[in-house]
Amino acid sequence: MRLIAKSPVGKNLKMVFTEKIKYEVKKLSHQSCCVYKNIGVEIHHIKPQAENGEDKLENAAPLCPSCHEIYGQNPTKRKFIRESRDIWYEIERL
Ligand SMILES: [Zn+2]
Repeated sequence: MRLIAKSPVGKNLKMVFTEKIKYEVKKLSHQSCCVYKNIGVEIHHIKPQAENGEDKLENAAPLCPSCHEIYGQNPTKRKFIRESRDIWYEIERL
């Protein structure tokens, strides 16, 4: 059986990274979006929890609210987000 969350708050249900993971993502990205490089990020689940995506660093990407809106719900963009994040972390480390 498939459950589809339609309620306005449904989007935020169970989507929880620990403070430690959030801190780590913000640190690695210097608190900027991995796509548009905007300052101020939300921690995005690349694979949603609805599909058993885990609350781990590997599944977390720093996205600004705008990118979160555009790419967050789009499964075809997951590879793009993952790559953008990895490249961004790499650049920020230099
Ligand atoms: Zn963005």
